[in-house]
Amino acid sequence: MISKKKLLRALSTKHWERHKSPGGGWVHSWDTFGTHDGPGIRFVLFLQGCPGRCLYCQNPDTWPLKGGKLFPADKIFEKVKFFLPYMQASGGGVTVSGGEPLLQVDFLIDFFKLCCRAKIHTCIDTAGLVKSFSKEKLFKLFKVTDLFLLDIKAITPSIHQKICGFSFNQTEEFLNQLEQAKKPYWLRYVLVPGINDSAVELKKLKALVKPLQSCQNIEFLPYHALGKHKWEALKIPYPLKNTRSATQKDISRAQGIVGLVKKN
Ligand code: SF4
Repeated sequence: MISKKKLLRALSTKHWERHKSPGGGWVHSWDTFGTHDGPGIRFVLFLQGCPGRCLYCQNPDTWPLKGGKLFPADKIFEKVKFFLPYMQASGGGVTVSGGEPLLQVDFLIDFFKLCCRAKIHTCIDTAGLVKSFSKEKLFKLFKVTDLFLLDIKAITPSIHQKICGFSFNQTEEFLNQLEQAKKPYWLRYVLVPGINDSAVELKKLKALVKPLQSCQNIEFLPYHALGKHKWEALKIPYPLKNTRSATQKDISRAQGIVGLVKKN
């Protein structure tokens, strides 16, 4: 598990700002026909860099910031434009995922400005794993982002810590900022049998969700071991090798406890 000292350093925006490269973003890959990360058909861009170490991470190869390739925002936008007809016909757009995309917030803002000018719907898939941004930066980010997908790993501090190696406070702080700004978002919860799927944990999630005003949707994603081969390729022991995949029955049970979908 990552040490507290290293974690605090990794979560510090200043730390990442020292490592960022001006004029571009560290990109892992992209998917031109994404159907799972926001509404419609989407161009999904995966950025490098994440201070988290989730037990079920499907993209451990995104963890180091500079493991990918540096692209200027306009070069990525050129690729996006090619797929505009699919996006527009399906009510889709662009989603930036990772890694933790908020670590490269300046690139995100530059890239989304181009998308906004072209009236392309923009979305960020994040666990909110950053120290607070300045009000100005947050304002700029919210201005160019139509929708957030906020990943909730667990509510109980010890379970959250066990799953991803960091505290829920970071995610909760970002959730509060979304609420304060009345910014639309979906919550996403990877259901891991035997770890974060107890009735007690799901009732805590229900209590968290109940007063939220800008949450448009709650998605339960079934845990599966599809990313395991990447851990093996990186020679990192896969921590959930004895955990079964979540089934549709598990998902239905969780939806029943928390309440299915909350759309504004
Ligand atoms: S926050 Fe996302 S990218 Fe980072 S370790 Fe967790 S699952 Fe992987």
